[in-house]
Amino acid sequence: VPTIGVLALQGDVVDHMRALEAAGARAVPVRRASELDAVAGLVIPGGESTTMSKLLQIFDLFEPVKKRLDAGLPVFGSCAGMIMLADEVLDGRPDQRSFGAIPMTVRRNAFGRQVDSFETEIAIDGIAGDPFRAVFIRAPWVERVGEGVQVLARVVGGGAASGDGAGREQDGRIVAVRAGACLATSFHPEVTPDARVHEYFVGMVRGADAGPVE
Ligand code: GLN
Repeated sequence: VPTIGVLALQGDVVDHMRALEAAGARAVPVRRASELDAVAGLVIPGGESTTMSKLLQIFDLFEPVKKRLDAGLPVFGSCAGMIMLADEVLDGRPDQRSFGAIPMTVRRNAFGRQVDSFETEIAIDGIAGDPFRAVFIRAPWVERVGEGVQVLARVVGGGAASGDGAGREQDGRIVAVRAGACLATSFHPEVTPDARVHEYFVGMVRGADAGPVE
């Protein structure tokens, strides 16, 4: 059973730990660098990316996490976690830092302030069966993917884009990507009982144990 850490400085840590256990992993919180050494994979939860960036630096965790990610540690970032994995953040704060683990541009709070939260069904590449019920909470979307980034899911339809999001059509926006050992979703699979995204990530961690992930 792989041990997977959940970065536990801020955000919806407990839900991710529960979902990872449901997906067959052992889940542990990660609050200090020494705890990082024990994990075969890492989840960066949703929350607030500006706060997370700040806390990572205050707790001297930014560089240790970046080092493990650069060395190929499998990682899954949801929502704020997706922002933390990007190499370019739009509508971020000037002092906000991200790990640059995935060559992609994400826009924070992209769906507009009038639609803080919404749910929609999406198809996710590599996840079989029924469409996935995706919950978006002040979510980012992906505006550019670089080389080697696989688009796993897009939003279909523009219904939720109203208010100040209306000028930026949401239909077709990228909301899940994979690049090597990195997985990122705009939405929050940990808040629904469907464990398939976490199962997919646990599968990535198992695969990395067996050899290099391409
Ligand atoms: N809007 C948040 C941010 O910019 C992300 C929201 C979330 O993680 N639910 O970090």
